[in-house]
Amino acid sequence: EALNKLLDIKGSIRVFCRVRSFLPNDKREIRQTVSTGSEKITIRSTGIKKEFRVDKVFPQEAAQEDVFIEVEPILKSAIDGHNVCIFAYGQTGTGKTFTMEGTKDQPGIVPRAIEELFHHLNPDQSITISMLEVYMGSLKDLLARKPPSNKTVESASKCLSIHTGCNGSLEIEGLTDVVVTDHREAIRWYTKGKRARATSWTNVNEASSRSHCLTRITIFQSGSAEKGKAVVSRLWLVDLGGSERLLKTGAVGLTLDEGRAINLSLSALGDVIAALKMRRKHIPYRNSKLTQILRNSLGEGSKVLMLVHISPSENDVAETICSLNFANRAR
Ligand code: ADP
Ligand code: MG
Repeated sequence: EALNKLLDIKGSIRVFCRVRSFLPNDKREIRQTVSTGSEKITIRSTGIKKEFRVDKVFPQEAAQEDVFIEVEPILKSAIDGHNVCIFAYGQTGTGKTFTMEGTKDQPGIVPRAIEELFHHLNPDQSITISMLEVYMGSLKDLLARKPPSNKTVESASKCLSIHTGCNGSLEIEGLTDVVVTDHREAIRWYTKGKRARATSWTNVNEASSRSHCLTRITIFQSGSAEKGKAVVSRLWLVDLGGSERLLKTGAVGLTLDEGRAINLSLSALGDVIAALKMRRKHIPYRNSKLTQILRNSLGEGSKVLMLVHISPSENDVAETICSLNFANRAR
């Protein structure tokens, strides 16, 4: 029984790795830094040769469809009542947003998942969607109905707080949760949330790489979600903030604080996943807002998929190794 439980938890955490394809203005590299097998990644650079194992590797030429096919089973388990968390992890510029959001021509996991969910939904199930951004410990509601008039009002009024509910669950106070009845409507809200993310911190440079963007899809059983019916399951789709370390960028001031906040919450997330995997009694959810928010969906019985993104470039070798070490720990 204990062994079964162990296998269950171990089996519910998966780590995939996607290697970003070369971009048009990447420097052409003669030496291949990253080589891949189906479950193996080898990093080669001057004086370095390291091998890592993950559950699945998506090489540079992998298309969005290839990724989605591997993600589908875990989505089905959300419909079957499991809580699911899918994270995109990695250094800024390695394709986290590309994998999760994608582009118009190459849609990513989130829009595909929305379509898939509605495709498989039973008539007695209904869906709500929420989106929020976590930036330096503050929470922002990306689907709030009133558009902000200016930055000051915005940051004061849209700060959400979390509190512990009666059954120990964590609730985000005032977070907009929209009932969506079909796939088009859900995509409309998702598009609105993406836009809000892009424009929310207008005075902060590149804030999107410094924040976590969370899309939450809740599946309710039977009838209307508004009538307080039992929650079947939650699907969290998370585009994490960039994992790059601070030293390399020579960050100062705000950027340094932002980097610290991101690094803290990413290591808190890593700690939680490692503790879950090792079936520790104490799971350290309290160490970051991110893990507090995800607490109910990140435990026994839930499924976790970590999509670690890495750069193909030799310049990024140090960060790539850090990301793969993080992956190793989660696995
Ligand atoms: P991140 O969110 O990790 O900072 P992005 O998703 O913004 O990275 O990716 C950086 C750039 O690389 C974007 O222009 C994106 O469209 C492009 N890109 C990333 N991954 C791929 C890929 N697999 N194929 C084609 N373009 C990609
Ligand atoms: Mg991004």
